[in-house]
Amino acid sequence: MGQEVSAVPETTKPENLSERSLPAVADYIKSGKARKVVVLTGAGISTAAGIPDFRSPETGLYANLAALELEEPEDVFSLPFFKENPKPFYVLAKDLYPGKFHPTISHVFISLLATKGLLYQLFTQNIDCLERAAGVPADLIVEAHGSFASQRCIDCKTPYPDDKMREHVSRAEVPHCEKCNGLVKPDIVFFHENLPSLFFDRRHMAEEADLILVLGTSLTVHPFAGLPDLAPFEVPRVLFNMERVGSLGSQPDDVLVLGDCDTGVRQLASALGWREELEAEWRKLVGDEEADRQLEGSSKRQVELHDEVSQLVHDVDKVLHVHDVSSSGSSSPSPEAVAEKEPIAATQQEVQQSESASVKESVETTTLTEEVKVSGA
Ligand SMILES: [Zn+2]
Repeated sequence: MGQEVSAVPETTKPENLSERSLPAVADYIKSGKARKVVVLTGAGISTAAGIPDFRSPETGLYANLAALELEEPEDVFSLPFFKENPKPFYVLAKDLYPGKFHPTISHVFISLLATKGLLYQLFTQNIDCLERAAGVPADLIVEAHGSFASQRCIDCKTPYPDDKMREHVSRAEVPHCEKCNGLVKPDIVFFHENLPSLFFDRRHMAEEADLILVLGTSLTVHPFAGLPDLAPFEVPRVLFNMERVGSLGSQPDDVLVLGDCDTGVRQLASALGWREELEAEWRKLVGDEEADRQLEGSSKRQVELHDEVSQLVHDVDKVLHVHDVSSSGSSSPSPEAVAEKEPIAATQQEVQQSESASVKESVETTTLTEEVKVSGA
């Protein structure tokens, strides 16, 4: 856990870090060189929070959906299907709705970065709102795949009140627009829907970063997956994840911290001298009982987690499809790529090749796969 490895030859010296290690990253931050930290998060950061894993037969989201006799589980995040039958989505929403889960220590670490004035922008693929719950200021968060934080009518777009939404979701009931009786949907990005414009408005901030922290994402979903590659070559990038992903580990200042996010984040916090403060903030936020539950769960799950995540990445890759929308045909391409789902069987190697082949280009493309659907992996 928390093992540091690199694919860069040992003889290649880093340009900004004294060495490829967490203590060196901590020194870089403490020296004041990291004033614009860009953080990217995915499902792995919420694992310890207990967000249901859709692969688990007991609590799996897909298992719940199977009870609803869906032909394709993915249909639940398809807009045409939702229009026909919104009920399965609301059964799932009941499982995922914010308030049922508590932030992990990794979420609180991001909040601490904000408190210390170092967080430039957070981009998350998660729809669980745990970054907000951890106290990260809303104006520093881009929820790239939307979130449950707001909702509106799919027809007239009128926003729907939060309290009424909460009531409906708690009963797995479908809410209807108060104006036109249209279906109400949380502002989560479904297949065939645009990513939030905020993502495109702010992704240049990744280019301006002086440190990139990537936590718990398999980086298979574009355009999100291209964000780490927007930063200048010499900018240190640190990956906290069960395994190496994307182009992380290919540049001289890349540090790979393989293991569960919370373990790696604790190591960085210790190296920074922030550990005590971090643990205290986290316990204050979630309470001792929840903190102990997460710690207990994490030690129990550490062994099985690796296998589970590997399988999940494989599953996600199987349905992954990289489809370039913005550069094909149109003379005035929309600034917003369109989420698209197509059943294909890309192998993991193919995916990695396509990612490394043209990362700058692929940031213009988009695909939504399982990652937009669940926050637990
Ligand atoms: Zn309406």
